[in-house]
Amino acid sequence: MDGKLLSVRNLKTHFSQDEGLVKAVDGVSFDMAPGATLGIVGESGCGKSVTARSILRIVDRPGRIVDGEIWFRRPPVNGGPARTVNLAQLEPNGHEMRAIRGAEIALIFQEPMSSFSPVHSVGSQIVEAILLHQPVSRREARDKAIEMLRRVGVPSPEQRVDQLSNQLSGGLRQRAMIAMALSCHPTLLIADEPTTALDVTTQTQILELMRQLQREDGMAIMLITHDLGVVAEMATDVAVMYLGRVVERAPVDAIFHAPRHPYTRALLRSIPRMRVRSRERLTPIAGAVPHPYDRPTGCPFHPRCESFMAGTCDRRTPSLRPVGDHHAVSCFLYE
Ligand code: SF4
Repeated sequence: MDGKLLSVRNLKTHFSQDEGLVKAVDGVSFDMAPGATLGIVGESGCGKSVTARSILRIVDRPGRIVDGEIWFRRPPVNGGPARTVNLAQLEPNGHEMRAIRGAEIALIFQEPMSSFSPVHSVGSQIVEAILLHQPVSRREARDKAIEMLRRVGVPSPEQRVDQLSNQLSGGLRQRAMIAMALSCHPTLLIADEPTTALDVTTQTQILELMRQLQREDGMAIMLITHDLGVVAEMATDVAVMYLGRVVERAPVDAIFHAPRHPYTRALLRSIPRMRVRSRERLTPIAGAVPHPYDRPTGCPFHPRCESFMAGTCDRRTPSLRPVGDHHAVSCFLYE
């Protein structure tokens, strides 16, 4: 693992349905260092969330991992050595995976309403999460829950701890979900569109909170988003996904200042940017993401690509190759 926290190798997660086979994740590879922030970006349906759910082994049926490896470095226990496990080989509901999920790898996502039960208080749910993974009494777990709520900026946590999730505003619910996710001090936090449902002011506060907690706890963050502005602000490295594959992987500066893949360039041209002339027109990406049952042959991006080379791009599939320091691209322009 060479000091890596997570190493995903050729991961394939497919959904076999009556209508056909959906290759939601189709050969994804990337690494994460401890304490790094990896932004995973791409349009809806590119496989970002299924990649995250595959790592946590919570892919809904009929989806299943059909190939690949997910190596994760577990923290040392009782002074013993750190251990590396292949999550793809573990039983999704087995003892080891349950010990990792929620404690060593935590998840926050877009809609906190669906992560809290509407009939139990927010605090009792954080307490249950703590009791599941830590050897503490219920009293101690409640104190920890109040402390976590305070840490994420929930005002009057002694009272809020007994409230239901629907009694909290959207911003406070998101803070409470972060408190629950971080209550067991994970080494990897997967944040799936964590601020998409929030207004701009609350979004800024939540991103700042995540940055602060990352600084204090040293955890790595996998940030899944379609919002390149959030990636520019938060990420150290970026993986750009298209139709279940990583098409470009690089440090964040290289993605924004020297993007190589035609899809990454098109994505960047489609968003407003600071310091460009205000009258410059944005260019939407041509065409639409193909239907999952109707994948193009060859390079999956070829029907939309402005650099398309007939006879090559529609016949063969490019592989991810290095083009610079920590920079890799999947495109025939660089082969
Ligand atoms: Fe475009 Fe061809 Fe590169 Fe695909 S391989 S991104 S179609 S130039």
